[in-house]
Amino acid sequence: MARYSPSVQNLISKLGSLPGIGGKSAQRLAFHILSMPANEANELADAIKEAHRLTVRCSVCQNFTDSDPCPICSDPKRDRSTVCVVESPRDVSTFERMHGYKGLYHVLHGVFDPVSGKNMNDITLSQLFDRLTKSPDIKEIIMATNQTAEGNATALYVSRLLSASGIKVTRLASGLPMGSDIEFTDDLTLASALKGRVDISS
Ligand SMILES: [Zn+2]
Repeated sequence: MARYSPSVQNLISKLGSLPGIGGKSAQRLAFHILSMPANEANELADAIKEAHRLTVRCSVCQNFTDSDPCPICSDPKRDRSTVCVVESPRDVSTFERMHGYKGLYHVLHGVFDPVSGKNMNDITLSQLFDRLTKSPDIKEIIMATNQTAEGNATALYVSRLLSASGIKVTRLASGLPMGSDIEFTDDLTLASALKGRVDISS
């Protein structure tokens, strides 16, 4: 006999498929949702549906946005000569929170990771190279992928591919601990890693 009714089991398994949510957390969230007043549960469901319906990837930087190009790519005050390449949209908000970076971004939506089967076609590298071809203003690419083996490999790969392009490729300074995620880096450490970035152009 099933432990829960099919609808509850379905909710638990959908919540459990989210990143970072284990079986116990999925059950806790499911029962929290079930104990909400119906209007609050509907608002939660509507928020997910609306965000999904209205959000697209910016055709320039690939970040999630509800207007294309996104507000950062459309902002005339941003420095169009520098593109900071990050793994995820969360990293863009980390950089923006720091207020020390005025250039543009490119969101890879992952990194080159042969172990998990993620190859170059699964991330937005071809869109980055297209963009570089069409935007002669871009003079520097800051590889701000996480300080992990995969993040470093992706940074070196980009630097090698751009070696003949004349575009400078830099990497955040090694003040960031190995294995660290940009997302969880405090503003001061990130600002100094950005300021002390090193040239990895090959
Ligand atoms: Zn954009």
